[in-house]
Amino acid sequence: MIKLRGHHIFCLLGYRGIGYSKEYAENMTAVHTVLRQRPDTLIQIMKGPDHLCAKFPDDQPYHCEDKGIYVRDSEILKRLGLKFGDVLPWREIERRIRIEVVPSDIAVICETCSWRPYGYCEQGVERIIDATGLQEVEHN
Ligand code: SF4
Repeated sequence: MIKLRGHHIFCLLGYRGIGYSKEYAENMTAVHTVLRQRPDTLIQIMKGPDHLCAKFPDDQPYHCEDKGIYVRDSEILKRLGLKFGDVLPWREIERRIRIEVVPSDIAVICETCSWRPYGYCEQGVERIIDATGLQEVEHN
């Protein structure tokens, strides 16, 4: 079972192998690969720091407990009809994204994220809507 907070559901859609550090990216690639190859993997919805936050580097400003990040988590969970503690397969999360999310939601919900300008996250939502699934990681 993989523990994820709300906004990391979206981050995984746009993930291309780039992260805050080598260790962070390796961990995220491992999670991403499991979900891409085994979409029946169970996800537990977390309140606050999760399986990805666990590898956030010590030498960078820690933002995982920032109020704005919790707000982003809540907005995404509300959109997907999820709450803290829920357990469900990644495949079901993709199904809910397909129904409830459009690519332009990223610009609104993730307005202040430094990764947003890459455009990968909007593309990731498009792939789910097209039922193409997670994109194979290019870097790393
Ligand atoms: S814009 Fe930032 S917070 Fe939003 S899904 Fe992408 S990486 Fe995650």
